[in-house]
Amino acid sequence: MSVKNPGQTDIFRERVGFDQAICKWRWSYPVIHVNRGELRTCDKPPNIQITEEDLQRLGTDALLNNPYLIERRKDKLLGLRHPDCFTCIILESRGIQSTRTGKDRFVRYMNDVVGVPDDFSGPIDVEDPRLLRADHPDILEISLSNTCNLKCLYCSPVFSTSWEDEAIQFGEMRPDQAERAAKPAPASFEPVFWLWFDRIKDSLDRIIFIGGEPTINDRFLPFLEKIEDIMRDSRQAREGRKVTINVISNFNAPKHRFDRFLDLLPALSERFILHVEASGEAFGARSEYIRKGLDWNLYTSNIRKLLALRLPNVRFGFQMAVNALCVSSMEELLRLAADLQHEYRVPVDYKENIVVSPDYLAPYILPRETARYLERCHDFVERNLADPSSNPYLFPYNEPSAERWRKYLPFLKSLHHGISQATENPEVLKRFAEFIARNDERRKSDFVSVFPEFEAFYRRARSFRG
Ligand code: SF4
Repeated sequence: MSVKNPGQTDIFRERVGFDQAICKWRWSYPVIHVNRGELRTCDKPPNIQITEEDLQRLGTDALLNNPYLIERRKDKLLGLRHPDCFTCIILESRGIQSTRTGKDRFVRYMNDVVGVPDDFSGPIDVEDPRLLRADHPDILEISLSNTCNLKCLYCSPVFSTSWEDEAIQFGEMRPDQAERAAKPAPASFEPVFWLWFDRIKDSLDRIIFIGGEPTINDRFLPFLEKIEDIMRDSRQAREGRKVTINVISNFNAPKHRFDRFLDLLPALSERFILHVEASGEAFGARSEYIRKGLDWNLYTSNIRKLLALRLPNVRFGFQMAVNALCVSSMEELLRLAADLQHEYRVPVDYKENIVVSPDYLAPYILPRETARYLERCHDFVERNLADPSSNPYLFPYNEPSAERWRKYLPFLKSLHHGISQATENPEVLKRFAEFIARNDERRKSDFVSVFPEFEAFYRRARSFRG
């Protein structure tokens, strides 16, 4: 068992107290890379690579109850922060809303799901296996492979074969599989995964398929079928509830692939509640620059095709990984969300996300004055998406879309604060300039012509290159 690319080294393991360290996602939100035998809890810490020896020795405990993850949970109970949680630590240090759940949700989870009736205000027995083990996940994220037809700036060979191919083309990686980012899983990984899935199925609220790109992955459908088969004998099925499946897609699969995915949706939506999310946080040519390989027209036309189906159990939204380059056109994307709602008379959702790594693409590297873009996004959401008189739409099960968008406002406000308080970091700007120059050279693009609003910023960043 080994941890891949451990968290940023300038963050130390430090005692901050239970209330500041605790987060239920370390217990309840596994992310499993089925094809390469890696996992993490939650979606932010580095991956742990599981070996055949781990699987033989620990069986299903090799997944969520391996010694490394038990120790990380003990850290949280002891009030220690760990560099693995660098994303939340960095965001919180900048006053930006993180995804840490905090004490109340942890206590509710322990009380209601795990069955430990403690309010965690007194001494905690950090050796109590009921507190250390994780046997009741509520969210499960699955990556079937890194097969992807795009190479988004903030992604990497680990998550995209297109990135991998580029790294091989420019000599950063050898083409033989042993040197590639996505090494195959040990032989027992998948059989153990299914054994484990059968044991934990009763606590699951949602299963999320992430990339690579699920709609071009031939294993996606067989995987869903196996999940459905196992879930037939679950608590949810006995209670007459359907499991929720999220599919995060780039909406840019070749036409025959995406149409085949759309053709499957009516039948799938009878069997599951589906949340189909389009990755994207910028608009038009800016989005095409950030998400290299993206065809904006194909992206929007695929979204329209999905919305036109108007399937009652299918919910659509944008998965917005807010980064340094999207902020100037994010308002236009939010306008698109509002326009689509009115045109198709269905709600459009969002998923909150932010790029912290690589650090040179995080939004708070920008000059303070660019915080105005976030202010405009906040005002637009407040007036048009979070206001029930402008957004009267309801998700299935009568959840108001406006109420959901209202929850995005504190994040936008905190991001505005984070950018407007940031101080210039020459080292990070230097890396930004080097990355953009290399990117333009390799991908035959021209940053300044796509982002004229960032010309002065780029010039300043380049001045640190020496
Ligand atoms: S503190 Fe942040 S990184 Fe750590 S488990 Fe919670 S959400 Fe994930």
